[in-house]
Amino acid sequence: MSRFFSQKYSALEPYTPGEQPRDMKYVKLNTNESPFPTSQKAVRAAAEAAERLRLYSDPECTLLTEKLCEVYGLARDEVVFTNGSDEILNFAFMAYCDAEHPAAFPNITYGFYPVFAAVNLLPYEELPLREDFTIDTEAYLGIHKTVFLANPNAPTGIALRPEEIARIAESNPDNVVVVDEAYVDFGAESCLPLTRKYENLLVAQTFSKSRSMAGARLGFGVGNPALIRDLNTIRYSTNPYNINSMTLAAGVGVLSDEEYTRKNCLAIRENRAFAAEELKKLGFTMTDSLANFLFARHPAVSGETIYRELKAKGVLVRHFTKPEICEYNRITVGTREQMQILLDKVKEVLEEHL
Ligand code: PMP
Repeated sequence: MSRFFSQKYSALEPYTPGEQPRDMKYVKLNTNESPFPTSQKAVRAAAEAAERLRLYSDPECTLLTEKLCEVYGLARDEVVFTNGSDEILNFAFMAYCDAEHPAAFPNITYGFYPVFAAVNLLPYEELPLREDFTIDTEAYLGIHKTVFLANPNAPTGIALRPEEIARIAESNPDNVVVVDEAYVDFGAESCLPLTRKYENLLVAQTFSKSRSMAGARLGFGVGNPALIRDLNTIRYSTNPYNINSMTLAAGVGVLSDEEYTRKNCLAIRENRAFAAEELKKLGFTMTDSLANFLFARHPAVSGETIYRELKAKGVLVRHFTKPEICEYNRITVGTREQMQILLDKVKEVLEEHL
């Protein structure tokens, strides 16, 4: 830290992104990216947009908004686009939390939530998950805090039913409930339809996972027009050009290729079922994940050992050091071939230890 760095950040612990190694070719199952190529329609649109980089990008995201509204049946004033969904989550912390409205989220969830709270100097409470890693909905009823719920949750992959989230929104009418649906396209039910019923419900989604566009950085929020106006106030007060022109074009392109997205999501669900079944045969236990990852532990070999030895064999998974989950690894669901390599390498690791 330099002597110029503001004291207010002296204790700030930044988010640690998953490893993005450049040294060796890994089967990369650690950051929940899609294993499938970005839609060619998106790639071509981005290349065309690259010819016009002289100009600023459209701060109103006009064409992308129109396309998203067409695909999801929304009105233009119900949508805001951000630089990845991380940015809308940060905006929501900025817009809806303060001393009277502390944030509340599970103690095991997306690791960026406490960092967003900290960087914005906001109070927050972490509510424990149940023993089986499910979210205790009752704990959020009438909590009078701004609630952040990843649904499905990360890194467990367990999803709440929209009815349960509706109860939370209904019981906290003076607070916003933010539902982070980064992984919703892989089998959970979206709360998007509820945003018309609950003026305090904001849904965040991303193009990073199901639409194979993690590197383009594109996310969006859907909610009541008044919420969207708040978020635009924050957006225009930080960076109105938060989405670059290539990403705007790629977004329109990928939304013109919904059949491709659907096919890829289906493949992930099939590969998830296959890998889960095979890992169970090897003795693993895991949560009931509806996301594009599995969250698995082995009774005889530690999570850390499995992570380290898989890495040495060229397979990268995500290991967390938090005591409650350190026996687990989060394994991104990839192609069938990647899942077979994972299983072969896991077998080798187990044989060396059992
Ligand atoms: N929410 C959750 C639960 C995530 O796991 C991630 C991905 N790390 C994000 C949001 C953010 O994704 P992105 O910024 O790429 O949209």
